[in-house]
Parts: sequence; structure tokens; C-alpha cells
Amino acid sequence: TGEPLYLGIDFGTSGARYALVDKQGAIHSEGKRTYPPVGRVTNWASSWREALFHLLGDIPAIYRPSISSISIDGTSATTFIIDRNNGGILAGPYLYNESFADALPAVESIAPANHTVCSGSSTLCKLVSWWNSSSAGLSSRDSAILMHQSDWLLWLLHGEYGVSDYNNTLKHPELQLAQSRRMYAHRFPKNCVVCTGTTDSIAAFLAARTTEPGKAVTSLGSTLAIKLLSNARVDDARFGVYSHRLDDMWLVGGASNTGGAVLRQLFTDDQLVALSHEIDPSVPSLLDYYPLPKRGERFPVSDPNMMPRLQPRPESDTAYLHGILESIARIEAKGYNLLKELGASMVEEVLTAGGGARNDKWTAIRGRVLGVPVRKAEQTEAAYGAALLALKGANTMH
Ligand code: ADP
Repeated sequence: TGEPLYLGIDFGTSGARYALVDKQGAIHSEGKRTYPPVGRVTNWASSWREALFHLLGDIPAIYRPSISSISIDGTSATTFIIDRNNGGILAGPYLYNESFADALPAVESIAPANHTVCSGSSTLCKLVSWWNSSSAGLSSRDSAILMHQSDWLLWLLHGEYGVSDYNNTLKHPELQLAQSRRMYAHRFPKNCVVCTGTTDSIAAFLAARTTEPGKAVTSLGSTLAIKLLSNARVDDARFGVYSHRLDDMWLVGGASNTGGAVLRQLFTDDQLVALSHEIDPSVPSLLDYYPLPKRGERFPVSDPNMMPRLQPRPESDTAYLHGILESIARIEAKGYNLLKELGASMVEEVLTAGGGARNDKWTAIRGRVLGVPVRKAEQTEAAYGAALLALKGANTMH
């Protein structure tokens, strides 16, 4: 059959998707499955397992012999405790957003102040909570092994224990280096390589194909999140800023509470399109707002009591929207400046993901305010990012 293909699978919050790419990154096949409902007789583990094997079955048979490698991303801090004697689930899966506050005192007593593990939903809190629970009998502790969602899904394919990746392990202390393992699953070529995975937000960043320091991706969804490739690592718990390792660089990120959620409180998506059409993005708006959906901001200003500022409201809705978009752009610029002040590389180009990326007027406003080229990212699907990871993994093997 044809040229080698590389498979990425994304396990997001509501469903799973796959993307199959060639070595240029062109997509040959895509698909998605929603998770089978979790109920009395099923659980998340069996729902995800089913989604995984359904997706593998969805890939057209003509492509399967060409698949050289596979990678999977999952939600960050979604965790299992597995028995390495028989692969059985001892506990979990604990979902990314489930909180285990009972573990906080113990975790806070050993972790640096404000470290990312000091949140009830961190992997470490999940582990400590399980450790403290009565179900964690002494005998099971000896054979217990922690796996993230993507570790577990990949393990279903390769069957090796003790493999994870840098990105998933940010939220617990043991760092294990990425390794590739042979895939045993039927229907795929025997020499198909199973690569380590990553988290869903890293996979979404990888999808934009930014590979040099200074390149960044802003996600304009319900909130505003920025991610910048940097030569230097920066961490600052005050602002919720931390760095993920990416090859020999660092992916530095921060997230503001401003973003599309505020727009949605004030306008419908149709109104956003119509009003944006009237905006002249070359003219700065002097309206100075701090759009927040509710009290509290974390980045680029850390102030849990900050109140939304959306007044004075001009007569014209177009002028109002212009002022809000411009104000959000100023917060974005302040975010990139803060990362630079903390020691990260200076931003040189910004790609955009999320619902706000469709708004060309906003993109133009942001380009003027940020002073660097801003454009829509061509690809933003995490599954595509995971496929690029698989491609990279296959290249590293040879
Ligand atoms: P989520 O973070 O919820 O996944 P999405 O990436 O789907 O968000 O983006 C949805 C957001 O995009 C909404 O909050 C909405 O206000 C915003 N949005 C939708 N259309 C536009 C538009 N034309 N201009 C600016 N923002 C928009």
C-alpha cells in the first residue's frame, strides 16, 4: 500500500476523535465518537476503552496497513491506579476536574508554596487521597501503578507498564522519560509503534505547528489562554504561570478569566458577527474595560477580588463591542509582556484558536495592539496535534 501514515487520537471531555496524517501533515482520514453513556453497568474506563476500539475500527481498512505510529492525548490529571500484576483497575479513573481536598494538607506540607500540585484536582492529590483511603490495602500498594488517561489508553495497545510523558507528569512528582513501545493490537501492522501521549491542551498547541521560540497560540474560547514557546522556563504560582517541557524548549502558559464567555453574556453569536462587521479595526478604541464573566482574575493580574469593568456603555453597540474586543486584546498583550518580564522569550507571532479566531476584525485589532503578526491557526484539533506527535515519534525511532 501507500505512503506511511501517522495516527493521533484525542480523548476530550465529551468525546474522542482521530486524525490520520502523512509525513507532510496532510489529513487522510478523520473521525469522531461520543463516549458511550456511563451508567449503572458501565464506567468511564469501559466507555473510553469502547470509544478507542470503535475509533480504531472506524479507520478505513485501506489505510490500516500504512499506519506507522500512533499517539493519544487525554485530559490533564485524569488518573487511574492500576494493579501491575493483572492490569486490573484498583481505583479511578479520577476525572480531571474531580477534587480531593482531603489530600491537600499532606500535599501542601511537602510541595513548594502554590505549586501546581497544591490543587485538589492535581494528580498528586488524587494519589495521596487514594493512599489515605481504607481501600488502599497494604498488599495492593506494592503492585499499584499510577497511569494518566492517555497512559492507560496507550497501555491497552502496547501492554507495557511504567511509561508516561513529560506533559502528563507535570502534576505529579515522578518524571518518567518518554519511550516508544511496540504495538500488539491486531489489525495494525506488527511494526506499528505506540508513542507516548500528552495532555489535550498540549496536543491542541501542537496542532498549530509552531516550532520556534517566540511563536505563540492564543485560545479565544470561553476564556483567554496564551501559550508561548520559549527558550527559558518560567514558573510563577502567583499568576498560575508554569512551563511544560517541549523538546529542548518550554511551553509557557497563562490563562485569564476574560474571553468569549463575557461576549456571550452580552451578545448572541449572530450579533457578534453583524456588529463586528461594522468595526474599523485600524482605529483604536479608547474605551477601557476589564471584561470578566464574574469577580476574580488570575493572569496577567492576580486579584481574586477584581470586579468586571464594562462601563461606561456607549449608545452604539458597535462601539461597545469594539471597546470590549480592544480591551481583551490589551489584556492579551499584557499577558505576553508579563511572560517576557518573567524571563520567557519575546512573542514574535501569534496564531489563534477557539471561537474568537473566526473574527477577522478582532484579529486585526489584536495585531495592532500586540504589534506582531496575528492570524488564525490552520489546525486546532488536539487529534491533529497527537497525530503530529506520532509522526515525530516515528521519525525519532528511525
Ligand atoms: P470553549 O472555550 O467554550 O470551547 P469555543 O472555542 O467554542 O469556546 O468558543 C466559543 C466562544 O467564542 C464563545 O464564548 C463566543 O462568545 C465566542 N465567539 C463566537 N463567535 C464569535 C465571534 N464572531 N467573534 C468573537 N467571539 C466569538
